[in-house]
Amino acid sequence: MKSTVYFATMRADHWDYNYAPVGKFEELLTRLDLPRVIGAGDYVAVKMHLGSPGAFRTIRPVFLRKLAEAIRAAGGLPFITDTVRIPGLEYLEVAKANGINELSTGAPVILADGIFGRDLVMVESGPILGRIGVASAIHDAPAMVVLSHCKGHIGAGYGGAVKNLGMGGLAFRDRSGVPQRGRIHFLMNAELAWDAEKCSGCRQCVDVCPHGSIGFTDEILVIDQKECARCGRCSRVCPEGALVLPQNDEVFQGCLAESAQAVLGTFAAGKVLYINFLTEIQAECDCMPVADTPVVPDIGILASGDIVAVESATLDLISRAQVINDSRAGDKNITRAENIFQALNGHDPGLQVRAAAALGLGSSDYELVPVTHKPKPDGSGPANPFGH
Ligand code: SF4
Ligand code: SF4
Repeated sequence: MKSTVYFATMRADHWDYNYAPVGKFEELLTRLDLPRVIGAGDYVAVKMHLGSPGAFRTIRPVFLRKLAEAIRAAGGLPFITDTVRIPGLEYLEVAKANGINELSTGAPVILADGIFGRDLVMVESGPILGRIGVASAIHDAPAMVVLSHCKGHIGAGYGGAVKNLGMGGLAFRDRSGVPQRGRIHFLMNAELAWDAEKCSGCRQCVDVCPHGSIGFTDEILVIDQKECARCGRCSRVCPEGALVLPQNDEVFQGCLAESAQAVLGTFAAGKVLYINFLTEIQAECDCMPVADTPVVPDIGILASGDIVAVESATLDLISRAQVINDSRAGDKNITRAENIFQALNGHDPGLQVRAAAALGLGSSDYELVPVTHKPKPDGSGPANPFGH
């Protein structure tokens, strides 16, 4: 049986709220039948990426507010959450700067692994990772909505729901200081390799490192291997190709799927929903210190109870979109969006989705169900039918 994926396009078909993306999002939430998923009094984790200093193209607060209202109407108590990537209190400041706070959204914003990134519960994962530390507020929540801003990613090619959970659902470190998210990077990557002959000394690698793990001493590049998370940002921004982080795509994306399965294993069946925003789709992840021009136009919002189905539909829709020439895609002379993330970032984005399907997390066989508008209470059409 095909999995249902609801799809609200970002086009507004009439000059009417009910046909605009926010109105359609309300209807999309109705179709998800939240009372079926959320029990009375359930704490509901709304897992998202809060952005970075300079990276503002995450999900807009108006949609968070609508989701929080719908969760409350279903009897749940929502909280917006992510895990620590930069120091906790600074990350909450980023959320505020991006307009994501309790006043704007109607739900508290908390860090699932605490402000120090060490609140976790160890769970069994799989053959690659063994045991892994799930952020405690996600582990303990009885229900979750995985809200993903879909975009490219330097290591995974693509960042959507699998990555949001597989990396973002883990705590930063355990109490002994062992990285949990970072373990995935360590498994996929060898150590950074620096070519002094190619290096221009621009220091962009130093500026972009979120952990202060890289610097220069007497013009020699020095990496603090204990602190380096092998995230690849420094290598990504190096304009000379002087800094290389070798990567095994199969292992990395396999780890993401396995870790996502471990996070999902902390929920009872049917207690997690997925909403993917195919909006402001840029080449890079929201964890980079910039937001660049999107590489394709806004497409829409997808929602499903099946993580593989929603991710498959996301990649299919993006692959059929028009490329925006004045973007990083245009810079690389990419003319068709088919495999755009592979062309932009050099990694097959479908690996993680196929790995998730192989683990039995869902089905890539899906039916796309359009959500064209929010019906009025009397079932009538738009109040102001000056549509285009
Ligand atoms: S890979 Fe580079 S940017 Fe990432 S933590 Fe290590 S030194 Fe810093
Ligand atoms: S970004 Fe590359 S070229 Fe610039 S200092 Fe770092 S290694 Fe050298």
